[in-house]
Amino acid sequence: MKELDFTGKVFVVTGAASGIGRSCAEQLLGSGAMVIGIDLAKGDLAYDTYKHYMASITDEEAIRKITDDVIYNYGKIDGLVNAAGIWGNSKPFFDTETSEWERIISVNLTGTYIVSKFVANAMIPNKSGKIVNISCLRSIIFRNNMTDYAASKGAVVALTSAMALDLAPYNIRVNAVAPGFIYTGMTKGSFDNEEIRKQSETLIPEGRLGQPEDISKVVLFLLSDLSDYINGTNVFADGGYHIQK
Ligand code: NAD
Repeated sequence: MKELDFTGKVFVVTGAASGIGRSCAEQLLGSGAMVIGIDLAKGDLAYDTYKHYMASITDEEAIRKITDDVIYNYGKIDGLVNAAGIWGNSKPFFDTETSEWERIISVNLTGTYIVSKFVANAMIPNKSGKIVNISCLRSIIFRNNMTDYAASKGAVVALTSAMALDLAPYNIRVNAVAPGFIYTGMTKGSFDNEEIRKQSETLIPEGRLGQPEDISKVVLFLLSDLSDYINGTNVFADGGYHIQK
């Protein structure tokens, strides 16, 4: 099959400075797209067709300005990848301060809502667009000490389907990808420990950790015309983790 061709298309990718978001941005750039990256951190993708904004996805005014700027400069937004996210506080919920809880919900859930809102408003007049949210295996399979993160990701799955309904009349599709264990900036600290990595790999039928490209390939499919009849769903890309008992 021919590689996907996104020439002439404009995409916004959050979390574009690292891991899954960076890989999505890089694959889109390699497929001919214009990419606007948003991240708290500095971006390092050296392409003429890449523009990076340093901002928090929780900063509504900053996201409004970035979206206006993109429309002013490029005239449209064809797709959005919401990949910016943070890990939880790693404690039992009963020992978590409400301010600590709110920080996770604010980035993973409210940030996804804020960016989607401004981008959807830019897509609606064109009656065309694709939004892909990065959820998580932890939206349905849990371990101790992850209530904040799990709740934020479960909510991203619900947000995905509910947004898809609001946007269906405008020919805009919204889906999510649920990664399993992926080696990125978020997980490097754990997976560089050989014992943790080996133990984690025993839980994955595929027998290996995922790489960011294992997720960005699925994201690109969902951003492409190949997935036109898929809407409001959560696609697991976890090497089969979620199907085991
Ligand atoms: P990462 O830490 O490598 O990348 C996340 C990026 O998001 C970073 O560049 C960070 O600066 C940015 N970011 C964080 N808060 C932000 C904010 N408020 N505003 C703007 N940018 C912000 O991690 P990753 O693993 O690539 O994570 C990407 C997404 O994938 C996250 O939503 C994460 O929850 C999800 N995910 C990751 C895994 C995994 O195993 N790595 C598994 C399931 C889901």
